[in-house]
Amino acid sequence: MSAVGTAERPLRVAIVGSGPSGFYAAQHLLGGPDTVEVDLVDRLPTPFGLVRGGVAPDHQNIKAVIRAYDKTAKLAGFRFVGNVAIGRDLTLDELRAAYDQVVLAVGCESANPLGIPGQDLPGSHSATAFVGWYNGHPDHRDFVIDLSATAAVVVGVGNVAMDVTRVLVRDRDELAKSDIADHAMQRLREGAVKDVYVLGRRGAAQAAFSPAEIKEIAELDGVSLVVRPEDAALDPASEAWLAEHGDKPTHENVRFLQEIAGRPPTGDRRVHLRLLTSPVALYGNGRVEEVELGRNRLEPDGKGDLRAVDTGERERIRAGLVFRAIGYRGTALPGCPFDERKGTIPNEGGRVIDKDGRPIPGLYVVGWAKRGPQGLIGTNRADSKDTVEKMKQDRASLDPAPRTRPAVLDRVGVGWTDWERLDAEEIRRGQERSKLREKLVQIEEMVAFLKG
Ligand code: NAP
Repeated sequence: MSAVGTAERPLRVAIVGSGPSGFYAAQHLLGGPDTVEVDLVDRLPTPFGLVRGGVAPDHQNIKAVIRAYDKTAKLAGFRFVGNVAIGRDLTLDELRAAYDQVVLAVGCESANPLGIPGQDLPGSHSATAFVGWYNGHPDHRDFVIDLSATAAVVVGVGNVAMDVTRVLVRDRDELAKSDIADHAMQRLREGAVKDVYVLGRRGAAQAAFSPAEIKEIAELDGVSLVVRPEDAALDPASEAWLAEHGDKPTHENVRFLQEIAGRPPTGDRRVHLRLLTSPVALYGNGRVEEVELGRNRLEPDGKGDLRAVDTGERERIRAGLVFRAIGYRGTALPGCPFDERKGTIPNEGGRVIDKDGRPIPGLYVVGWAKRGPQGLIGTNRADSKDTVEKMKQDRASLDPAPRTRPAVLDRVGVGWTDWERLDAEEIRRGQERSKLREKLVQIEEMVAFLKG
């Protein structure tokens, strides 16, 4: 029998999830001396995961990374199989039986809860759903939101919080030229939000946003970024922490916030960055009307970092919308181990492990499903490479018996040329509306279009 990885018996790999980590895994697997066939499987008919459904529509420069994925898609041995869901169209065990190695690149698709009274009142939303909705993700096509409130609260000071805040206050005509979904643009145009309170539970030295992201908010036309001096000031513990552990972006954030602190607002829309502040309860008659804020101080967490502790000080603000941007969370894939506490797939350096800590032969994980929802898109390149190295080390133990591609992939799967047709159609529809792209937002609509 021929060895695995030869022209007679190619190495057959399935990657589940076609976001950045899935594409980087494919890139590292293909183009080497061995003969490798990669099937990149996605539950949606469209590729690119969070680059399409998560990156903000006004950040097209970030979306340009797609050009690199397009190149990967042209490599010999690459195959895209969209519209196939594990657990719906075939089981993970069936997939594992059909391939030598399976890589899970399923990301983190749900949102962390706030865990405070009133969190489920209408008007309180996860950033995940809002982002998916304005990006035309089929999962969030029917998301219901009332944007008639004049004030909104965004909880969290990461880059997702910055995206949500920008979309709420950015000039509507500018936003309309992007690839934002039409259904969202219409509602945003009718919306009334003028004040956005962005809450960071810790201080300026612990803010998770990138310097470029917070500066972009301050530079938006007609928008003032309002920072109170007492929020930008560092307590002695943060000063010491910053001096010892602070990286360049953190120093830049602190410098910038201290520089603009105390400036009076000028525009007709305001973003109030409130640090050392947590929401403690949401109130309202049938929907969110008020948010109770608690003031925090910082204390050492015993692990070299500082944590927020409630001082008991309270304040109430009127706001009809709340978005929690406090981190994504993974969801269990049927038939696969899952760490409920971390919201990730348990693994050792990318090898998926069972409940006894033993590697499951041929099963690997990359990206957010592997390490949790942190890092920029590029972080996934090295991360996927690391897992692919482990896969190469494990090749010697592979069974050279032939593997058969599951018939369901050909029956319901959408290929790369199908995606190219969808892509061209979306761009054409966008041109009709003087925007970059108008996405098809329902899976049935995409499939119907492809069937002609
Ligand atoms: P993130 O960077 O981890 O930020 C989460 C924020 O939520 C932090 O400020 C965190 O504060 C806060 N938080 C967590 N639990 C909280 C709670 N119970 N109450 C109040 N605040 C809480 O996560 P993210 O914004 O979802 O972004 C995920 C990753 O995608 C990041 O690596 C991000 O840089 C990346 N991303 C990048 C871009 C871009 O480059 N433009 C855009 C979007 C996302 P603590 O620090 O106190 O925990």
